[in-house]
Amino acid sequence: MSRSIRGVHDAPCAGKWGTILGQMPRSMSISAQLQQRAERLLPGGVNSPVRAFRAVGGAPPFVVRAEGQYLWDADGNRYLDYFGSWGPMILGHAFPPVVAAIQQAAARGSSFGASTPTEADLAERIVRACPSIEKLRFVSSGTEATMSAIRVARAFTDRKYIVKFEGCYHGHADGLLVKAGSGVATFGIPGSAGVLEETAHFTLALPFNDVTAVEEAFAQHPGEIACVIVEPVVGNMGCVPAAAGYLHFLRDITARTGALLIFDEVMTGFRVAFGGAQALYGITPDMTALGKIIGGGLPCGAFGGRGEIMDLLTPLGPVYQAGTLSGNPLAMAAGIATLEYLEAHEAEVYARLEVASAAVADGVAQEAKKAGIAVTMNRVGAMFTWFFTPRTIKDFRTAATSDVTIFGRFHRAMLEAGVWLPPSQFEAAFLGTAHTDADIALTIDAARTAYLTIAG
Ligand SMILES: *Cc1c(COP(=O)(O)O)cnc(C)c1O
Repeated sequence: MSRSIRGVHDAPCAGKWGTILGQMPRSMSISAQLQQRAERLLPGGVNSPVRAFRAVGGAPPFVVRAEGQYLWDADGNRYLDYFGSWGPMILGHAFPPVVAAIQQAAARGSSFGASTPTEADLAERIVRACPSIEKLRFVSSGTEATMSAIRVARAFTDRKYIVKFEGCYHGHADGLLVKAGSGVATFGIPGSAGVLEETAHFTLALPFNDVTAVEEAFAQHPGEIACVIVEPVVGNMGCVPAAAGYLHFLRDITARTGALLIFDEVMTGFRVAFGGAQALYGITPDMTALGKIIGGGLPCGAFGGRGEIMDLLTPLGPVYQAGTLSGNPLAMAAGIATLEYLEAHEAEVYARLEVASAAVADGVAQEAKKAGIAVTMNRVGAMFTWFFTPRTIKDFRTAATSDVTIFGRFHRAMLEAGVWLPPSQFEAAFLGTAHTDADIALTIDAARTAYLTIAG
């Protein structure tokens, strides 16, 4: 069966410029000009650093259009997309029900700064999917979601310290930019200039998957740790799952010590399972941060948890938190359309994502093996990374043993073949329901060719 479960995007619409294996080298002249213009106006030419391709080399294509599993750049090249806007596009780009929902909402007005019925509509869907969330509040990004969740956790516990893990990324709020993943890991920096030592002091950054480090932190700071925040499947140092029992251990130690357990499911929510990692592993966190998929490609985040915790927020309680565009009607409409489809087709969607992701992740890893190139593949559902190292990857220290030079060559060769992987070794790749079996076969072929060119 060489088709996606959606069907609508099966007909390739490459036009005369479709980038296919073995074709002429891509023309990139228009993207290059656009990059020069952007660099005069935007630092590095970008609004989010990893987009600049500095970690992999080569010039970033400027995207002008996307549909299903494909992106098209300004020079007319078509790419098979394996980063899905960094997670949201689980149903593919311009998914017709999402487009229709946004269009209809836009025609009714794009922002009111007043309550709308759609906020509770999306909230109901999220609460139904994640029973640990009794109440939630919408924000406009994952950054705001985790930042606000931590403020609430500190107020609820009346404690100062937070525990996070090296290589986990929770957005760019000051206190969370300590030994962070994603772009911070990509650029090899321990944190960020401009974050006060005094702020970072209250963030205990511990190695992931290390039980002893967490026990020691709680022993050293008795009654002082407000929360443990964790990506339950890490995506932001590349894909690194928690070891068996580790998340249960975090649940136990936080419950025992009166700290809150916050699952940052901005990436994993509705991705690794409909109910996120908490459903996949059967763990009930005290609070959850969401983003990405819940906004269907529009700016949206949310944080939620038990009612007694969430009721600390203004106007009910003393924790201030607000947003001009929070619960934006277009974002709610896109989120509702996305979750509606995922809920109605849950079994089919997640089964397809599992099978298709296994096929491409294993297939590309096997080609590496045949080519004599050391690759360790980690995958949970439709979230995966090929690490260019023979080591088992269980934390940031082991992820950092990856050969980023080889990764850069691999990335450039794949891009040349029309396959756009996340432009950093320390970012997870994603697959969506629009990817077909033919796409997967093409990707494995492209990897086979790429490995020939990168070994030297
Ligand atoms: C993407 C991400 C964030 C940040 O979300 P933004 O919308 O980029 O602010 C936070 N946590 C995790 C786990 C993420 O993957």
